[in-house]
Amino acid sequence: MKKSLMLVFTLVILWMGDAGAEESDGFHVKERTKRQIPKTVTVTTILEQPFVMMADSGVLEGYCVDLLSELAEALEFNYTLHVVKDGRYGAKDPHGVWNGMVGEIIRKEVDLAVAPLTITAVRENEISFTKPFVQTGIGILLKKETPSEGSYLFGFLNPFSKELWIGIIISYVITSLCLFLVGRLSPCEWAEPSNERNQYTLLNSLWFGMGAFTLQGVEPQPKSASARIIAVIWWLFSITLLAAYIASFASYVTNAKEQTPNIQTFDDLLKQSKISFGTLANSSTFNFFKNSKNPTFRMIYEYMDKRKDEVLVKSFSEGVQRVRESNYAFLGESISQDFVVAKHCDLVRIPEIIAGRGYGIAASLDSPLIRPLSIAILEQFESGNLEYLRQKWWENTCTAEEAHADWVPIQPHTLGGIFLILGIGLALALMVSFIEVVCKSKSKAAQQKKSCCSAFSEEIGQRFGRTENQESLEKVQP
Ligand code: ASP
Repeated sequence: MKKSLMLVFTLVILWMGDAGAEESDGFHVKERTKRQIPKTVTVTTILEQPFVMMADSGVLEGYCVDLLSELAEALEFNYTLHVVKDGRYGAKDPHGVWNGMVGEIIRKEVDLAVAPLTITAVRENEISFTKPFVQTGIGILLKKETPSEGSYLFGFLNPFSKELWIGIIISYVITSLCLFLVGRLSPCEWAEPSNERNQYTLLNSLWFGMGAFTLQGVEPQPKSASARIIAVIWWLFSITLLAAYIASFASYVTNAKEQTPNIQTFDDLLKQSKISFGTLANSSTFNFFKNSKNPTFRMIYEYMDKRKDEVLVKSFSEGVQRVRESNYAFLGESISQDFVVAKHCDLVRIPEIIAGRGYGIAASLDSPLIRPLSIAILEQFESGNLEYLRQKWWENTCTAEEAHADWVPIQPHTLGGIFLILGIGLALALMVSFIEVVCKSKSKAAQQKKSCCSAFSEEIGQRFGRTENQESLEKVQP
């Protein structure tokens, strides 16, 4: 017992010693790296909402500005921040010279670039990046479609999908046919086929269905149980459809101003010619399409390369403006697109996002700043501060409109239950009318001392064949 207590005690002492050593090691690394950081660091950046923006007072503000001040506080350095002279992120020109923020770092004009600068292999060859502080991908920014005059003209058809309209027409025809059949079969509707006129002719049956469907008077009135089953089921069906139509129409009218565009994928872009598309010149997005081996992305690159002067924009805000003012789709980084979509309710970003990538802080290859900055970024991430900054700068002001933007016409499966009930009701009515005619044949067979079968076939023959009596009756009563 004594021995084991001693062992535990020794282990605890050893562990505490290790932890202390580790802690002091970490402390020394931090101190050492802090000492290597110059007291004043020059930083370049680029104006892109909401990362870096010029406030009315002329001061820079935004996600990157907040992040930089947090990092400066953590690593105890001062900094001077300026906007990149040529307004570019950084790409190699045809002579192999780097421009933009990347160029400024390579030429050692600045120590750091704190901006939405994408970490890419070609850039990583020339400069160093910290761990990413934001993850993003490439998306398509589009303007919501305003329906044409023509689509307003027939807008009353929009509350239901095409398939649902077809389903309703088919149901109407089938129900009218069933009513016609039941009207002939059921002895309560047509007791004496030889000398009585049938009120449920095909035209009357169609008329009855339409009258009930539009909540108008229903003529002729059904008398038999089977015809009444059809009538009740059809009324239920009509009233449910009407309620769904009115609800959907009201919602459609509210949303008719703007609709989600037809383009949902990068392939869709290539399949149409109405909307031109492009991206930022000298950007990692343009280079992504240039270097891609995927046939769709290659075709997108070839399209943009052929029309360079028309479709490539100089800044993100120019891209957004073109989307809002013309038939233009802007291919760019989804995180920035989400920001503008949250601010401008007339814009949407398609759900498809390609080419996952991250933004990192950049410095020259031999910079002592990279490692401490990477650690500080991870600390910011783990403390939840990056998430806080994200929420602060990506505030959504379009929520109310977005809720409406989800409107879609009613699909058949939404009303599947009512179609099923109609089907069951019609089958039941046909069965009941069949039973009715069988009962009548039975009593007729007993009265006339005939076999049931011959009485039944006589009944059916009279109800579906044209007898001389009927013809003369129709001549008398046109
Ligand atoms: N952040 C990007 C860049 O570094 C801009 C873009 O690719 O759209 O080039």
